[in-house]
Amino acid sequence: MSIIVQKFGGTSVANAECIKKVAAKIIQSKERGHQVVATVSAQAGMTDRLIGLAKEITLEPDPRELDQLVSTGEQMSIALVCMTLHAMGHSAISMTGGQVGIVTDSVHTKARIQNIKTDAIRSELDKGQIVVVAGFQGMDEEGHVTTLGRGASDVTAVALAAALDAELCEIYTDVDGIYTADPRVVPDATKLDAVSHDEILELASVGAKVLQSRSVEVAKKFHVPVCVRSTFTERPGTVICSRVKGFEDVPVCGAALSRKESRITIAGLPDSPGVAARVVGAIGDRHINIDMIVQSFPLKTRADISFLVRDTDLSQALRVCEELKDELGAESVLPEGEIARVSAVGRGMVDRKGIAARMCSALGAKGINIKMITTSEINISVVVDAEHGEETLRTVHECFGLHKLPPATPATDVPADLRLSELDPMEGLHVQMVELDADQAELKVVDLADKPGEAGRLLGALAEAGINLDIVLQNSCSSGISVTVKRSDVERARAAIGSMAEPIAPQPVQVGDGIAKVSVSGVGLRSHAGAASTVFGVLAREGINIEMIGTSEVKISVIVPEADGERAAAELRKELALDN
Ligand code: ASP
Ligand code: MG
Repeated sequence: MSIIVQKFGGTSVANAECIKKVAAKIIQSKERGHQVVATVSAQAGMTDRLIGLAKEITLEPDPRELDQLVSTGEQMSIALVCMTLHAMGHSAISMTGGQVGIVTDSVHTKARIQNIKTDAIRSELDKGQIVVVAGFQGMDEEGHVTTLGRGASDVTAVALAAALDAELCEIYTDVDGIYTADPRVVPDATKLDAVSHDEILELASVGAKVLQSRSVEVAKKFHVPVCVRSTFTERPGTVICSRVKGFEDVPVCGAALSRKESRITIAGLPDSPGVAARVVGAIGDRHINIDMIVQSFPLKTRADISFLVRDTDLSQALRVCEELKDELGAESVLPEGEIARVSAVGRGMVDRKGIAARMCSALGAKGINIKMITTSEINISVVVDAEHGEETLRTVHECFGLHKLPPATPATDVPADLRLSELDPMEGLHVQMVELDADQAELKVVDLADKPGEAGRLLGALAEAGINLDIVLQNSCSSGISVTVKRSDVERARAAIGSMAEPIAPQPVQVGDGIAKVSVSGVGLRSHAGAASTVFGVLAREGINIEMIGTSEVKISVIVPEADGERAAAELRKELALDN
């Protein structure tokens, strides 16, 4: 008999009335012939209330005791759901994470699932029981209760589906699927019928808060089909799968806004091997996640590195950066709060020209100043002032015509590339590939005016000349914009910029020495703070200088001197135990 895992969020179990609807959904699936495992969150607002109780006593509660406390929110919900199922005439049993055997590491309040024992659940299912599992929690090897991080009931659900080899994982929530953008900000956003794991990973981490991004990592690694749908309607929802049919001609299929971000720039770092490794490593050691790490090519032997942190991590991250400044002899640490990040995401932008130009030009036309840009294969992200965040999202949505995407369906013929047994721990970092591209050249435009429209003008001129840009990076206006292009395009690119009707910068374009791009792709590169430090650590150990860095959810790309490309790729493959 096939197993279905269904997850119900806090708003779905908010009160007795809602819980009856949840029970009805569960019963419906059972009556269709499935074995059902339901995972539930704490009632809406409960986790915050419990954290509030702790904070009335101390501002820094002991993490173990905090987990002991907040895990009770989900424990309430599972009992209430089971009582409701009983009252409706069905047999059901509730289980906490510990009772199931959801084994986690010991990082309280941010634990990760190592593995899930399935015997207890299977034996209950075989007795005909509906099993209701507390989301968001587990137990470490020593028997301490742990929680998995905010919103992580989704992780429980997808991990259970992977461990039980379930046919489907349904995430029931108060919205009827995943939209091309947040409909509260973009009124004509439309629901996606299907979307790929990669695209959702890029969107989830930047604030498309429908799904916790670690749950998508687990889904991608173990090929779990996930359906996001409403508890309160019968509408079909959005299917998240490996590959989507129907979007072949669609460069961008979603956009997201992340508000609570701050940017830190460490300016005037020495341009020498080991510096990026030290910066990223020191921050990763404190378990602070950083994002959108950018280093554009250095000027006069000094380099700037910028990255984003959540507002809540800013003060801790700044302390680390001040220490680093002294240690490394940097010139300054420049924090900047109240910024927002907007990303446009789509697998279809691979190999399409002019996508970044289109987005930047649209923003320029609206008078929105771009403070930072990064691109990767399937993601273009810009940073703007927080007050322009919403308008930026609406502009991006409009410029890619996201309100009228063609119909899409999940492609079914995708083979799984990873079996559960092949990855231990379950939420571990999964590196798929290290690639080397030696056919690249870097161009830099410095002293770009810090005003709306300049990036759009520059990228537009390159797009018009038919030049495909690989990486586009801007980390602060004073250091300009760096792009990489195919070597054979360098002269044309230079000419295109040189012949712009209104010159873009006082100085001519600079062309870097021979470079190579090395990229590491995998699942969990951002959420595992240690992944970037491993990558930069290997290059530091080898004495290889990094010229540019661009990171995204599924890829870390570094530009190194051409002569070091082969060695960088080989050492990374060795370190990451890959044979490709
Ligand atoms: N109750 C937890 C939270 O509010 C987990 C969840 O809802 O997914 O973060
Ligand atoms: Mg949630």
